[in-house]
Amino acid sequence: MFRTHTCGELRTAAINKEVTLAGWVQTVRKFGSITFIDLRDRYGITQLLFSEALNAKLDANPIGREYVLQVKGKVNERSNKNKNIPTGDIEILVEDFTTLNKSITPPFTIQDDTDGGEDLRMKYRFLDLRRNAVKKNLELRYAVNRATRDYLHQNGFMDIETPFLIKSTPEGARDFVVPSRMNPGEFYALPQSPQTFKQLLMVSGYDRYYQIVKCFRDEDLRADRQPEFTQIDCEMAFVEQEDILTMFESLIKYIFKAVKNIDYTESVQRMSWEEAMWQYGNDKPDIRFGMQLLNLKFPQHFFTQKESNAHLIDGAGFGVFDDAETVVALAVPGCSDYTRKQTDELTEWVKRPQIGMKGLVFIKYNTDGTFKSSVDKFYTEEKLKAIAAAAGANPGDLILILAGPEERTRKAASELRLEMGKRLGLRKEDEFKLLWVLDFPLFEYAEEENRWVARHHPFTAPKPGDIQTMIGNDPKIENAADYLKHPYASIKANAYDMVLNGNEIGGGSIRIYQKALQQKMFEALGMDEEEQLHKFGFLLGAFEYGAPPHGGIAFGFDRLCSILGGSESIRDFIAFPKNNSGRDVMLDAPASIDAKQLKELQIRLDPQG
Ligand code: ASP
Repeated sequence: MFRTHTCGELRTAAINKEVTLAGWVQTVRKFGSITFIDLRDRYGITQLLFSEALNAKLDANPIGREYVLQVKGKVNERSNKNKNIPTGDIEILVEDFTTLNKSITPPFTIQDDTDGGEDLRMKYRFLDLRRNAVKKNLELRYAVNRATRDYLHQNGFMDIETPFLIKSTPEGARDFVVPSRMNPGEFYALPQSPQTFKQLLMVSGYDRYYQIVKCFRDEDLRADRQPEFTQIDCEMAFVEQEDILTMFESLIKYIFKAVKNIDYTESVQRMSWEEAMWQYGNDKPDIRFGMQLLNLKFPQHFFTQKESNAHLIDGAGFGVFDDAETVVALAVPGCSDYTRKQTDELTEWVKRPQIGMKGLVFIKYNTDGTFKSSVDKFYTEEKLKAIAAAAGANPGDLILILAGPEERTRKAASELRLEMGKRLGLRKEDEFKLLWVLDFPLFEYAEEENRWVARHHPFTAPKPGDIQTMIGNDPKIENAADYLKHPYASIKANAYDMVLNGNEIGGGSIRIYQKALQQKMFEALGMDEEEQLHKFGFLLGAFEYGAPPHGGIAFGFDRLCSILGGSESIRDFIAFPKNNSGRDVMLDAPASIDAKQLKELQIRLDPQG
């Protein structure tokens, strides 16, 4: 037997047993005639004791870090026990060993707090993966994978693979394309998601499908994006929105239990998209804490159901508020004692280019009930009190107010809320709060092209009550400035996002399954009949052969893992990730290909573009 035990396995019960271990050398510590070596494998670390007194022929001197050893010896009780590791009560008195392979000095130390920077660790990712910290993440990922499969299998879902070489039909992100040698001049695309395939599987009768699958999107990368990422992709036939919400909130709860031993027994909160934007300025609000926005002023056509609060600030002659499209406030608990330095720092924070505000107004609602603000010149104490009351502020709170154009101001308010939540420790890593965001608009207006684009994707069905509005109206936008008045602007989608702690972890929709409605959708997005047939003829065709009502969802697997693992970066949970420029620095990919390959593909490069 190559090894009788792993390096994480032996305890005091094995004392005096003869064992054989194999693994990597973590550390070598020499004390005169004895040498201690920590031997590491995937399962843990076991201390080896090389003693010349025991066997003078055992020469541990040549052994270095990351050497691969096979060691035979007897389990011994340690005199100096290490409570920090599970095998800390024992050691192996080495009787014989084989150096299975040597290692040159690794470029960084392979331990939890390594001295290797991110770039170096990515270049030598195969060494980085030996580190406990990374291994723990991959173990968590595997646990999420297994729990997902268990749950979906128990619920009758079938894992069906779909192709990676498909046709380019960009809508949203750019496609990665792959030239076809056998069909010169033609290209495959890598799927952004298996969306149309899973819908076709519904037409074929596989009414519960899933896949844990790679998706490819050629987007400009932000810190938490990867050009290839993994989704838990699911689809069901003969369902309504409610069926999907029930099925998949139970999936996430099942994962919580299996992976984190969390009993998430409460039902998942639900909120309309409009309410999320109104209360949090964001369609994926972190509801672990309150601090909701007070909308003092806003463009009425954005929130048609909402009453104006403008009377609270109007008429004071304060130009910043008077001239702004949107004014929003939030009451930060317990911060009325902020110093001038602290409020100045916050003002600088909102002025950073990422936030892009011109300034910050604040009102201190002192613990003694008095007020002090940066706008005392314009507002009486009475007025400040009324704003504070409307913002739900209590004595001791600091009220922060932002003013500017709607979109930017709302976004800034949302960012400021999250920042203050973080500073106050309200975004607890070990607290998990799920939320369904519902009733998204079906369309978004693309200003540059003066047309509608699908907010989710072109296969999402409108709410049943809005189908008539969609069919009965011409999608053309006559007057760009008035696009919000177009009937299409008010159409709601039968779509849902699942949000966890302020991150969108999943999204999906009930789909269109009637050919005519799908054609109307394509038309609304500006596709003429020819383009519809060229890009999606297969789907429109399939809808003529008895397509059942269906809907589905996809979860961002990498992100779900990173949140459960308490990390901001999905990279930490991917064995071989790409860097921020989409490069694999270990493989040094992407890379040029040789002239012969290009010739075979009939591709000539034009460096001038
Ligand atoms: N395919 C969609 C996406 O990747 C998810 C879905 O609608 O099921 O966002």
